[in-house]
Amino acid sequence: MEQTLVLNATYEPLGVVSWQRAMTLLYQGKVEVVANYERFVRGVKAHVPLPSVLRLLRHVRLRRIFSEVPFSRANVYARDEHRCQYCARRFSVQRLSLDHVMPRSRGGPDTWENVVCACLTCNVRKGGRTPLEAGMRLLNEPVRPKRSPMVSRQLTLQKYSAWKAFIPAVPDGAF
Ligand SMILES: [Zn+2]
Repeated sequence: MEQTLVLNATYEPLGVVSWQRAMTLLYQGKVEVVANYERFVRGVKAHVPLPSVLRLLRHVRLRRIFSEVPFSRANVYARDEHRCQYCARRFSVQRLSLDHVMPRSRGGPDTWENVVCACLTCNVRKGGRTPLEAGMRLLNEPVRPKRSPMVSRQLTLQKYSAWKAFIPAVPDGAF
């Protein structure tokens, strides 16, 4: 099911929530609908259009309540576009793994800066070595993404086109 973009009272994008959370916000009277999808969902009394963009009725002072892009397997895959950072080829999720640039066995942390997408073959080849020791080069320097890789991907999809008016083309912070 589609997700919903939540705007602050000032129309500043705050984050993306599940459709269930969007419906809850709606029932609680905390938001108004800015745009809907064509899809309908079962509401308390009737079928209601699934909201695409919601706006908080009261301003939230925390400017970027969703700003930290969570470090997760799915987000690392999305950041690296499912591309092995060693052989530069793209793979399905089943054939990908997370590689610690500085190996875990040597204290390499679980961070955006130390974890990359690697195909199973490259991951095994690299083993418990650094890229330099293994004679392998990283495609990109791993960094914490400024914008949620999921949101960046969603923005390329037609069904999320209503979001574009509210999300700056040049990312500044999470959105
Ligand atoms: Zn590879």
